[in-house]
Amino acid sequence: MYILVINCGSSSLKAEILDHRTGDRVCTVKAERLGEPEPRLTIDGEAFALDTKAGHEVALSLSLPKMLAKLPAGQTLSAVGHRVVHGGETISAPVRIDDDIEAVIEEFSSLAPLHNPVNLVGIRAARQLLPNLPQVAVFDTAFHTTMPRRAKTYAVPRALAEKHKIRRYGFHGTSHSYVARLAADYLGDDVRNLRMITCHLGNGCSVAAIEHGRSVETSMGMTPLEGLVMGTRSGDVDPGVLLHLMRAEGLDADGLDNVLNKESGLLGISGVHNDMRDIEEHAAADDEHAQMAIHVFTHRLRKYIGAYAAIMGGVDAIVFTAGIGQNSALIRHRVAQRLDFLGARFDEDANRKVSLDHANPVAEISTRHSRCRLLVAATDEQHAIAQESARLILELDKVSSELTIPIAVSARHIHVTREALDILYGEGHELTFRKPLSQPGQFAAEETLSVVGPKRTLEGVRILGPIRPENQVEISRTDEFFLGVDAPVRASGDIENSPGVTLIGPKGKIDLTKGLICAWRHIHMTPEDADRFGVKDRDNVDVSIHSSGRNLTFGDVLVRVSSQYRLEMHIDTDEGNAAELEPGVVGSLAATAGTATLNRRKTSHHSFASNSVTSDVSDIVQ
Ligand code: ADP
Repeated sequence: MYILVINCGSSSLKAEILDHRTGDRVCTVKAERLGEPEPRLTIDGEAFALDTKAGHEVALSLSLPKMLAKLPAGQTLSAVGHRVVHGGETISAPVRIDDDIEAVIEEFSSLAPLHNPVNLVGIRAARQLLPNLPQVAVFDTAFHTTMPRRAKTYAVPRALAEKHKIRRYGFHGTSHSYVARLAADYLGDDVRNLRMITCHLGNGCSVAAIEHGRSVETSMGMTPLEGLVMGTRSGDVDPGVLLHLMRAEGLDADGLDNVLNKESGLLGISGVHNDMRDIEEHAAADDEHAQMAIHVFTHRLRKYIGAYAAIMGGVDAIVFTAGIGQNSALIRHRVAQRLDFLGARFDEDANRKVSLDHANPVAEISTRHSRCRLLVAATDEQHAIAQESARLILELDKVSSELTIPIAVSARHIHVTREALDILYGEGHELTFRKPLSQPGQFAAEETLSVVGPKRTLEGVRILGPIRPENQVEISRTDEFFLGVDAPVRASGDIENSPGVTLIGPKGKIDLTKGLICAWRHIHMTPEDADRFGVKDRDNVDVSIHSSGRNLTFGDVLVRVSSQYRLEMHIDTDEGNAAELEPGVVGSLAATAGTATLNRRKTSHHSFASNSVTSDVSDIVQ
């Protein structure tokens, strides 16, 4: 597919037509100083005149016919992909733009005043100029909506946080997810099996912890100002510094904004430059301020890498990307040396020789036996936007929202091994069948166990049969707090690096070293169902439900496909209670795999059918 990707900055515009598969460019338009006295426009490097103060619409309408003329003979555009900075808390994936989506982008303009309004200008102009093409918005924040609430929450009064939508959103999501996928491809693995730390080091800098393909932490927060040292942005500062500056320097909000966004970072410390190339040159020429800029920049990043490794309980790959990450051997050296304690062994030689190109977008800078791999990957946000837009269009064609999925609530439960059952219930004990579960071959047993946490004990937690090769305890968030433990959200069976817990049965006790998880909400389906729904194993989808007079969307639902399964979505008791599900409720896939979680979307695509096949909500053990 040929996709037009539009990226509007406050006074700039970048528009490219590219092949979504290869990323090859058909045409590149760059406009700068829009709205200013002398705007500039180039199309594939050739300069074109713009009237004084010409804005984004003018630049776009002038360029579009020329861009379209560069398409290969007989080829047409399939879609337009727009980069949008802030999607707030509701949008978790690329979305097809309609008036509702425009309204959401507008709503979050207050949190991204330099970006969202101008992104909207591009969207409106493109919708007007190309009314028959699907328009897709790809959000910088979307990838980070999977962050747990503990990572999203600032410790400020809750009422204020709610009133002003003050929480951590994260940015550069398109780049973090793109390089994570590139790195996984290079490693010959699936991003969903890996723990990665991706470092996007450009003019803006951020680092993300990506656990099994999902962002669980990132350094930018409510705005792109938090976190790492950047070209002109401070990154983390003690908020007390701001109060002090207000009092001591008489600075108001605009004054502080200017200091923190435009006069700080590498520029602020070095006093002369925001560009890492210049800083490196001055540092080599013994400029102590430039040297300090490098020290603070790399120290801050190392601090985050250590923190993120701790959050994920380890790290399989650390990836450097963007202008500095891809080009500065010096910065990579300072950040990645002496990380042996994480299993990362830096290869000096490979680091100096990094050279990336279209055919080789990833290079390795760790030694052969490094357990944690150190990689450099070429980011390409425009290509990522084209890929995401194309995927959305293809999925929209395929995914059916007419088919319904029974929903069931899965209560806390335990899977045990033969060895564990021997200890807990006595040598050779067999599980007693109590009742069948919806998934063929699975049953609730009469046997129960006590689950002992550091704070309290959950009594009578039911064992599900048959026995399994690994012990696993699946609890809800509420149970976590009751027990006093911290369990990761995981797919059943994915217990590597999860915490342990103590199990007590009538004949004995076991201290598990791992196996305690909060189950990731999921849909079981057969390969035939997967075909009908247009999804595949381990896809993430959104499911719309109509229950108790309300329309709800569950985002980030994992698809599990096996011929052994029966079609059913499982949510945990917390989610079931929160959703006030009526018995017999069914869901349908929302517009597309991984689409927006928009509770206020129109209900037309929901397909609540009261007479369709459903399972009993209490069918799973309660
Ligand atoms: P943006 O965030 O605007 O996309 P880039 O990803 O292009 O920015 O990164 C710009 C940064 O990369 C600048 O600080 C620039 O100095 C730095 N950079 C580019 N090439 C090199 C290099 N060879 N050595 C060090 N820094 C570099």
